[in-house]
Amino acid sequence: MKLSSQKQVEDLFKFKSENFLTTSFYLNTDKSRMTKKEIALSFKNLLSKSKSQLQKMEIGKKKKESLSQDLNKINLFCSQHLSSNKFAGLAIFSCSSQDFWQLFNLPSSPRNRIIFDKNSYVRPLSAILGEHNRILVLTLDRKEAKWYDIFMGEILLLENLMGDVPSKVREGGWEGYESKRIERHIATHLHDYFKKAAHMTFKVFKKNHFDWIFLGCREEYCSDFEPLLHPYLKGRIKGRLKATPGDSTAVVLKESFELEKKLKKQEEDETIQKLVSELERGGLAISGLKKTLRSLNRGEVQTFILTRNFSKPGRICPKCHFLFVDELQCASCQRKTDKLVDVIDEALEAAMDKNCQVRHVTAPSKLDRYGKIGAFLRYKT
Ligand SMILES: [Zn+2]
Repeated sequence: MKLSSQKQVEDLFKFKSENFLTTSFYLNTDKSRMTKKEIALSFKNLLSKSKSQLQKMEIGKKKKESLSQDLNKINLFCSQHLSSNKFAGLAIFSCSSQDFWQLFNLPSSPRNRIIFDKNSYVRPLSAILGEHNRILVLTLDRKEAKWYDIFMGEILLLENLMGDVPSKVREGGWEGYESKRIERHIATHLHDYFKKAAHMTFKVFKKNHFDWIFLGCREEYCSDFEPLLHPYLKGRIKGRLKATPGDSTAVVLKESFELEKKLKKQEEDETIQKLVSELERGGLAISGLKKTLRSLNRGEVQTFILTRNFSKPGRICPKCHFLFVDELQCASCQRKTDKLVDVIDEALEAAMDKNCQVRHVTAPSKLDRYGKIGAFLRYKT
């Protein structure tokens, strides 16, 4: 199924077996960034790594068999479906001995991983949900108004309202007085209809908790309509669409997607700009892998900012879980550190554990010049 709500994640997390472990599997399947061959290869590597990890695990034979069956089922599924998959990511949760199997198609790419644990490992799903905005789209003209809910690439028509506004006065054939009276009559109708539409917008918004509003209407209508909206809603209008009520849902969705992408890029640029100015004035900010890891270890990070798909090997202290780029000995407890395939991945985990905010930015960006990674700090030591 397609990942679309926090409720799905909560339901998934509820599954827990008393006697067996659950396998959580995440794969980046973004064909705009990788070839089919590269995806297949990364899957093969991930699977063989997990198989050898499973062999070494000190758990009961039955538990091990169930996990091994999970891996086989995942392998079978991927060998049949991976090349035709159209989504940016895939997540599977399996507990074979309990006949538990759930699959999610993801709208953005997760980091590749397989985790064996008591519960399903759902944090990447929550992170993906958190990255997307729920958008209310209203298309409006003098005849009709339509309200749509757009979330993670899905569009749903929520409400529609017919205008019942008389058509415009035809040129000629009318005395001036009569024609003015009719114009006024039409204006009143239009105003009442817009008021109804504004009221409906508030009703729809309250029910669904949207982040943003996109408005699809001609300038002349917008200037009459917008002042009628609740002040709270006016602040949520993030942009205008060319789409009108006559357009298909596909057109509305496509235009909204483009605008959302543009707005997100703007948001990212603003975040990076804020980081850069904070860095330049020596304020509460840090950049580069080494310094960011040090601040993370010390619990100073407030907002963790990283470039999507950025990965680097590193090291971790087995005792205090401090992260390092290349230190062989933990700076805190002097223990020998262990090698990590991807320290960024661990850093992201640590940041989420410490309730830091996480912001992903898409490369290329200005952050590239600052080591692709950085953070706003709570305080500095
Ligand atoms: Zn240590």
